[in-house]
Amino acid sequence: MIVRPFGPTGRDVPIVGQGTWNTPARGERAEEAKRALRRGIELGMVHIDTAEMYGDGASERLIGEAIRGLPREQLFVVSKVLPSNASFNGTIRACEGSLERLGTDYLDVYLLHWRGATPLGETMRAFERLVADGKIRALGVSNFDVDDLEEARAALEREPIACNQVLYHLGERTVETHELPYCREHGIAITAYTPFGRGDWADGDGANVIETIARTHGATPHQVILAFLTREPIAFAIPKAARVAHVEENAGAGDLRLEAAEIARIDAAFPVRRRRGGLPTL
Ligand code: NAP
Repeated sequence: MIVRPFGPTGRDVPIVGQGTWNTPARGERAEEAKRALRRGIELGMVHIDTAEMYGDGASERLIGEAIRGLPREQLFVVSKVLPSNASFNGTIRACEGSLERLGTDYLDVYLLHWRGATPLGETMRAFERLVADGKIRALGVSNFDVDDLEEARAALEREPIACNQVLYHLGERTVETHELPYCREHGIAITAYTPFGRGDWADGDGANVIETIARTHGATPHQVILAFLTREPIAFAIPKAARVAHVEENAGAGDLRLEAAEIARIDAAFPVRRRRGGLPTL
């Protein structure tokens, strides 16, 4: 599994991690989701992404059960505060709730899920307090465009922004026009969420390109997609997989390197679209 520095955190993190939105919360499918998470960790996918929002805390609880007993220092656990909770006191309380559900003493990175009505400075001050208190190791943001990033950086007194978690898949590469270059310049990691989009990469002519490249490497199309999205030295991807077979396949992408010519073919088949308005989230 290829690892690389995650922004300014000083941690080497695998390029492919594990998302947990819409993870089944109950029954046999939840048990399989836990087995899948543990299998992913075993295969090196120690970056686990969650949020207080996911299943109203159910995702954090399920992760807590899955990681119980594992060496905490080897994991890289990320959660997010909802904008509606992102006042100074609300952020501290939300973080404590996430820690309790996850059964851990600290988060590796804590993110503002998206920008809401609370002044950014208030949330950033709470994040810095949480770092000072040892409850989070680093802070970050999600769904932030360049103006938001600038404002957040200006509001921080001591801590850098570790990452910007953004929508990034073959059909939605807008982030490459502004946010990715900005993050590269400022040493901020980019985490690609919903890396498989709605699966519509498979519908058009581009599917042939992905499948041909996959065959060349003895890989699968999903692995090629993850390798493409993490080709930049600041990029990470967090596919969600509640099935063990999917997790094993995604972990296989962590060692796949694409040739420049292959990247150029994918780039041509799935071009960056012209930007209309702000940063897309859907
Ligand atoms: P995704 O990871 O692109 O896709 C998940 C779907 O792909 C699931 O149906 C999963 O099936 C399937 N899948 C996974 N691996 C596969 C494989 N190798 N082959 C075929 N199918 C596969 O979508 P996502 O869940 O929207 O995004 C990933 C994570 O990003 C989320 O879980 C969440 O942690 C994060 N996220 C963040 C935000 C934000 O605003 N910050 C927004 C959305 C998502 P199974 O589950 O059945 O295995």
